Amino acid sequence: MTLTTISQLVSAGLLDADQAPGLEPVAETFRVAVTEAMARPELAAQFVPTLAEMLTRAEELSDPIGDHAHAPSPGLTHRYPDRVILHATQTCEVYCRFCFRRESVGASGHLPEADLTAALDHIAATPAIREVILTGGDPMVLSPRRLGALLRRLDAIPNVDVVRFHTRVPVVNPARITDELIAALDIRPAVWVVVHTNHPAEITPEAEAAFRRLTRAGVPLLSQSVLLKGVNADPDTLEALFRALIRNRVKPYYLHHADLAKGTSHFRTTIAEGQKIMETLRGRLSGIAQPTYVLDIPGGHGKVPIGPGYLEPRGAQWQVTDPRGQRHAYADVTNGDVQAPAPAPILTP
Ligand SMILES: *Cc1c(COP(=O)(O)O)cnc(C)c1O
Ligand code: SF4
Repeated sequence: MTLTTISQLVSAGLLDADQAPGLEPVAETFRVAVTEAMARPELAAQFVPTLAEMLTRAEELSDPIGDHAHAPSPGLTHRYPDRVILHATQTCEVYCRFCFRRESVGASGHLPEADLTAALDHIAATPAIREVILTGGDPMVLSPRRLGALLRRLDAIPNVDVVRFHTRVPVVNPARITDELIAALDIRPAVWVVVHTNHPAEITPEAEAAFRRLTRAGVPLLSQSVLLKGVNADPDTLEALFRALIRNRVKPYYLHHADLAKGTSHFRTTIAEGQKIMETLRGRLSGIAQPTYVLDIPGGHGKVPIGPGYLEPRGAQWQVTDPRGQRHAYADVTNGDVQAPAPAPILTP
């Protein structure tokens, strides 16, 4: 059973009884839900409310990534020319304490039919849109019947090549990945699934079985994780997570720098800390297990890789840093009129 109240968290042993009364206001501000699979002490930091959430820093925003700044119709975000985000529902299986949409998730359930129709009309009327990203909330909380109906409507829009899910369901409630759901994913556009997962303990045997059902059906799997202090902000934990993912045919895609959502400063690292972790992983971990470390620029200006950088201009040449930290000169050599490079000096750090 999913735990949704402070007293249920106490009964499940995830919270001390003496802390409970102080946390009621937190649970009233930001909804609580912890599925059975996630109701474990080693995962509690992601899902169990704390008083720290009531501390809002001046820089924290209600809409940290600017979803509403680029909304041609309710429930649709169109920031990049070739792809849109469709918020099919605001419901999730779990409510993550660091969620960047924490002020909108859990609110009003599914997107009303009139808004859904307006969103699909915008997609159909905009041939530059090639990809529809279903997010929410979590689109995989929709019943296979409802999801199937939505996917058939997307299938009928010729410019849609790809339908991408952003979901936590295969990890937080793997039993939802049923044959019926998988059958609904079998449409003309290529369906890609990006699984949000942050800690190796989330990759249970049941989650692995759900990944297997999806990959066996030909659905490519990617992952996205949020860099979170007290959860995964160290190279060992992320190494274990990314290894578990590639073992299960899930390609780590993005590691997000934690967004400026309200009441989440206790989870946030500095960018320099994140770069240091990525630098350590670069030397240690298979290339296919490396995600791109990204920042969603506050205000809706888009996501960009934030390093670490390995390349710096040095006069007419480049200086490249290798995974051990040693620096090397590199000169562009093309068949154009680029000058022959001087013999490359090896610079020591
Ligand atoms: C994150 C995001 C996307 C997807 O970006 P990718 O880099 O393609 O994964 C698309 N639209 C919006 C508004 C986004 O925030
Ligand atoms: S599942 Fe995703 S959308 Fe839902 S609360 Fe967690 S991070 Fe936010």
